[in-house]
Formats: sequence, C-alpha cells, structure tokens
Amino acid sequence: MEKRIVIIGAGVAGNNVLLFLLENRKDEKITVLKKEEIAYFSTCGIMYPLQEVHGLTLKNLVLKEAKAYVDQGVDFRTSIEVTGINLDENSIDAGGEKLNYDVLVIATGKKPFIPEISGTELEGVCTISNEIDAELTEKAIKDEKKKNAVVIGGGMIGLGAAIALLNKNKKVTVIEKNSHLMPAILDPDMSALVKDRLEEIGIKFIIDKPATSINGNGKVEGVTAVDEEIQADIAILTAGVSPNVDLARNAGVDIGELGGIVTGPGLHVKRNGKYLSNVYAAGDCIEIIDGVTNRSMLCQMGSAGAAEAKVVADNTLGGSSVFEPCFAPTSIPVAGLNIATVGITSSKAAEYGIQVIEGKATKIARSGYFPGVKNITLKMLFDTTGRLVGAQAISGEPVAERMNTLMYAIKNGMNAKEMLYMPRVFDASVALLVDVTINAITDALKKM
Ligand SMILES: Cc1cc2nc3c(=O)[nH]c(=O)nc-3n(C[C@H](O)[C@H](O)[C@H](O)COP(=O)(O)OP(=O)(O)OC[C@H]3O[C@@H](n4cnc5c(N)ncnc54)[C@H](O)[C@@H]3O)c2cc1C
Repeated sequence: MEKRIVIIGAGVAGNNVLLFLLENRKDEKITVLKKEEIAYFSTCGIMYPLQEVHGLTLKNLVLKEAKAYVDQGVDFRTSIEVTGINLDENSIDAGGEKLNYDVLVIATGKKPFIPEISGTELEGVCTISNEIDAELTEKAIKDEKKKNAVVIGGGMIGLGAAIALLNKNKKVTVIEKNSHLMPAILDPDMSALVKDRLEEIGIKFIIDKPATSINGNGKVEGVTAVDEEIQADIAILTAGVSPNVDLARNAGVDIGELGGIVTGPGLHVKRNGKYLSNVYAAGDCIEIIDGVTNRSMLCQMGSAGAAEAKVVADNTLGGSSVFEPCFAPTSIPVAGLNIATVGITSSKAAEYGIQVIEGKATKIARSGYFPGVKNITLKMLFDTTGRLVGAQAISGEPVAERMNTLMYAIKNGMNAKEMLYMPRVFDASVALLVDVTINAITDALKKM
C-alpha cells in the first residue's frame, strides 16, 4: 500500500518538506493542509513591499499557487484548519473529515506575540507575520491620514517596520523594553551603530521601557511606555513570535521549556518523553539544539526551517538524517546597513555562564581603490580556550557570506590562532589583504 504522508502547515517548513519529497518520492500519497489561500508565500520578503524597495508588491511574493502542486499529484488543501490530531489512531481532523496518515509532519509555524497590555484590539494595531496581516499593515502604512506611528519591539522586524513607516513620511517612535535594539542578535555596542543610523534618518526611540498600554477610543490614539505617552494613529506590534503549538499540545505532543515542540536529532516529536517514530515537526514551532550552549533554542528563521525540512523529508522517506545543532546565522538589511550575526551574543554567554573574550575592528570592507567602498565593523567572541563562539558584523557592504564562513569555524571548534594563521582568499573587490577578520582576531588575542 502507498505510504500516506500528511503535512500540517505550508510556510517555509511545510513547503520545503513537500518540495524535497516531490524530488525524491516513489509512490507516496502526500496531503498538505494550510489555513491560508496561497500555497507558498515568501514571508521573508514582506519588508520589501512594505518599505517600497526594488519595486516589489506583496503579490510578487507568491512563490507557488496550490495548482502547481495539485498538478504534481499532491492533495494540497488551502483555506482549511486542522482541528485535531489523534496520535493513537494516526489520524487528523480537518473540515469535518478524518484523514489517516502513516507519517505526520507538524509545521504549524509561529504566531505574533501579543503583549498583555490594554488596547491591542484597537483599530490601527497591526502585526507582521504572514500575507494576511502584512496586507492590513501595508494599508495602514500607506494611509496618508495616519501621521504618527509607534512600533512596539525593536528587533529585526520592528526596525524594518519603522523604516517602512518613515518612507511614508510618518513620525515614527520605536519602543524597546530591553536596554538596546536587536537584543537577541547584537551586543549593546554593535546595536548602538544601528540606533545611530536610524536616529540620523529621523526615527525616535524609547529604550529600556516596555509599552504599557495602547490608548484610544475604538482606534489607536497613543501608546504609553511606563511614564511617557506618544501620540499615534498606528501601533505596529513586533514584540516577537511564539511557536504555534496549540494543536500539537492538545494532541499530547511534548512541549519544551521555551514553548516549542520538543524534537530529537531526526526531528521526531515526543509524547510523554518517548519519541514517536512516525511524527515529525519542523519550522518556527519547534525547539532545536543551540550549537554553542547545547541547550534548547527557538531559531525561528526561514533558513533553519528549510534545513530542518530536508531532514524531515529524508527521514519520512525512510532515511536516517540528523539535524545538526544550530548556530542561528542571521542577516538583515536596515537602512543601508547590512547586519549579520552567528552564534551567541555576550549577554547569552553570560546567561549560560560562558566567559567570553571579545575582539573588534572597524576598517574599510574591501580595497580602497574601488569607488564608494564602505566600512565594516566586526566583533568576534571567543571562549577562554580561544574557541570562536559568536560573531556580529555591520557594514554598508554585503556581510552575510562572511557569517556563513564564521559559522563553519564555530562548528569546527576553530580557535583564534588557527583562524589567524590560515591563509585567506584575497579578492580585492570583496575583502582586504589584511582583512577586518584578522584585526578582530588580533584584538581578541591581545586580551587572552
Ligand atoms: C517580516 C519577516 C521577515 C523575515 N525575514 C527573514 C529572513 O530574511 N531570513 C530568514 O531566514 N527568516 C526570516 N523570517 C522568518 C521566517 O519567515 C520564518 O522563520 C518562517 O516563515 C517560518 O516558517 P514556518 O513554515 O515554520 O511557519 P509559518 O510561516 O508560520 O507557517 C505555518 C503554517 O502552518 C499553518 N497552520 C498553522 N496551524 C494550522 C492548523 N491548525 N491547520 C492548518 N494549517 C495550520 C499556517 O496556515 C501556515 O501555513 C522573517 C519573518 C518575517 C515575519
């Protein structure tokens, strides 16, 4: 009998499981169910239309319509909610129908974290997590009657939203409850470079204070951060995302301390502490292992979801792939600056009792004889044995590939001296002969 594979959810994770299965399947019957209408939408691209860059619209971010999958024999169901999973019967409930599976993949993703403050239901409060709320947010941003905006949460998505609002001539204030912007990926000194840049272009900040209420009568009129009220007719909530695990939890799947589905090396889920051999999970809804701390983490990046999807798909087809501990490589453009990070920050190191030695350098990113060359600031964190455990780079030049290289160095346990004494590729158009990496390592070695 053909193997019945059911995938719940089709964001980055569900779609990539499906795409990999389609490349490698034999005679499996594949069913995919998702709540939204579009089969595959690029959530990662949402900021481009919101900021009106590259001439992109939200419609351009449709990567696949359901028909493309149906034509390949997939039972792809959109606009449908899965309401229950029965792990004993190997079945799910959706749209009044019971569907049996031999293998189940849970890829239910994320939901925007809504802080417990008053006023989140008011008209003018927006979130940015998928094509549906992005469309509503886009309308609010483009509404010329709305002049004042507050963004609650100064992480990657919040800062992207702030720029989108500024581009439409709104007066923008970002409220961040932590002591610096992008606290999940940047140290305070690196974060200050981003804040300086955003202040230069006109964004205001309230830092180290939480938003305590959204005020208004039916619609947003202001936002209070402890003792300050800012006038606003739009409030964008970008205070993070939570794993969407209600369905899994109700079915009895184990949920971890960070609120995500607990997964093992092969991305099987657990029930009562025991792995289920035919149920997997992938994407923003799962907890994985942090490669530096060896503790559970929520990565919640499309890049991680796509890598997890390959492991799940391979194992679904009978393979024995293992998802490697993750170093959370991240890259994001903010107002002409490219920010890329990998591994742990100083504050995460402190949280886990890892003492770090930092090395930092700023210089031009590539040979000065090229017109318009920009600076790069690179910060590298080493543990007391000299092993690289984290890096953060900010530049007007591309930095993402540098982070991938440093990720491999972290993964392979390279130490500062090994990195310093290995010859590096020299291409004058992308780096210097004595590159910023060498200066940052040298700076750290002086302190070891
Ligand atoms: C603005 C923005 C920019 C981003 N930029 C980047 C980037 O540059 N790089 C990067 O790596 N990451 C980026 N991310 C993160 C990335 O988008 C997410 O990690 C990724 O989308 C998560 O995919 P997912 O499949 O796990 O979950 P989701 O995209 O949340 O998909 C979950 C799916 O599950 C379905 N579902 C849930 N419950 C049910 C149910 N009961 N029944 C049926 N279906 C259900 C939903 O309908 C949906 O289809 C960005 C995120 C945002 C919001």
